[in-house]
Amino acid sequence: MSNDPLAEMLRRNATLAETYQPPPPLPAMAAASRASGTGVVVLSCSDPRLNPYQILGLDHTLKATMVRNAGGRAFDAIRTLATLQTIGAPGTIVVMHHTDCGLTHYHDRDIKDALFQFAPSDAHDLIETTKFGEITDLEKSIKEDVAILKASPLIKNSTRIIGLLYDITTGLLSEAK
Ligand SMILES: [Zn+2]
Repeated sequence: MSNDPLAEMLRRNATLAETYQPPPPLPAMAAASRASGTGVVVLSCSDPRLNPYQILGLDHTLKATMVRNAGGRAFDAIRTLATLQTIGAPGTIVVMHHTDCGLTHYHDRDIKDALFQFAPSDAHDLIETTKFGEITDLEKSIKEDVAILKASPLIKNSTRIIGLLYDITTGLLSEAK
């Protein structure tokens, strides 16, 4: 393997493209999803140790749309989730947070202090007033994010919104109570 991960990724992509089969065009797929209401969107963390496709057993027979950001936080995902409502109208949104998450170790204060180290001084007010999504209690963060989505005027009232906790040690999901 090359020392440059990007070069290696591009090499692997070129190999994959040799046998690539394109999916059906989006408009037809989105119309089918809207009609059935069975679409699922999973909001989860950016953590590279987390593989939502594997965790949920997704394959060509069972699909979900993915939204990922630091912590899998709802406030940071509203634009995307709102947009997806207008395209595939998913009937279910899953909020999945996980144990050993970076945002349980690095809180807003740590992130702000680290950003101050390299950001220009005229960005300091912006950094100080920005919410970075720290997590102090996983059950609480999941409940908060489910509540944010339920209360959002940009998410359909009929959408089922479920909060799940993924235990990175056991590989098990449990519903956040
Ligand atoms: Zn995480």
